[in-house]
Amino acid sequence: MIEINDVHKSFGDLEVIKGVSMTVKKGEVVSIIGGSGSGKSTLLMCLNGLEPIRQGNIWVDGIEVHNPTTNLNKLRQKIGIVFQQWNAFPHLTVLENVMLAPRKVLGLSKAEAEAMAVKQLKHVGLGDKLKVFPGRLSGGQQQRMAIARALAMSPDYMLFDEATSALDPQLVGEVLDTMRMLAEDGMTMVLVTHEIRFARDVSDRVAFFRNGVIHEIGTPDEVIGHPQKPETAEFLKSVV
Ligand code: ATP
Ligand code: MG
Repeated sequence: MIEINDVHKSFGDLEVIKGVSMTVKKGEVVSIIGGSGSGKSTLLMCLNGLEPIRQGNIWVDGIEVHNPTTNLNKLRQKIGIVFQQWNAFPHLTVLENVMLAPRKVLGLSKAEAEAMAVKQLKHVGLGDKLKVFPGRLSGGQQQRMAIARALAMSPDYMLFDEATSALDPQLVGEVLDTMRMLAEDGMTMVLVTHEIRFARDVSDRVAFFRNGVIHEIGTPDEVIGHPQKPETAEFLKSVV
């Protein structure tokens, strides 16, 4: 479980997260929607300790992320993250790219890492691209490789930050389908997305961010289907 308690985060004088609290239970899929600059990416960065916070605390399975005694490398093994784009090592094959972290970070043997990488690449539908170099993949395939790479670490949580927004429209579907499959497999996920229909379909809860706070949170039917706040409704109109 992820517990976020009254988190405040500033960059210099600019407070970008102004008291956010929420929990993500095991197996839950929570989507974060909201306008540009509302603090969505920053919150994801705080979840795995990539950014310090000014006030409040975040707990992941009972580990306090911003406690100085916390082993962040160990914590991050639990939390896979997929960004808009991931720059794979161009001189390594897809398989080698996905094997890298399990080898180096988890210390798996070459055979173990390869077995894990093959399994995850097949899982995301790239079983026929193992020996290909990343530059030969389509954008959608590259994003699926990034998902496989995260999954190869056997994470308990997956965070997605606009995993489809750098893609040509015709490639978005295959990546969303992969994310949907993970959700159906029971993966605990926090996703920042502009794909409102997708968020409505796969999420257990949706949080609408505005000016560094959760302006509205609830089931997809509540927040997307029947928003209570005018700002939520306005935002939804602007993105559909
Ligand atoms: P978008 O939808 O455009 O990705 P977002 O909701 O993810 O927006 P954030 O990236 O979290 O927004 O940014 C929130 C605010 O924090 C913005 O005002 C941004 O300019 C500022 N910000 C983000 N990262 C930094 C940084 N490293 N240094 C200074 N300011 C930052
Ligand atoms: Mg962002």
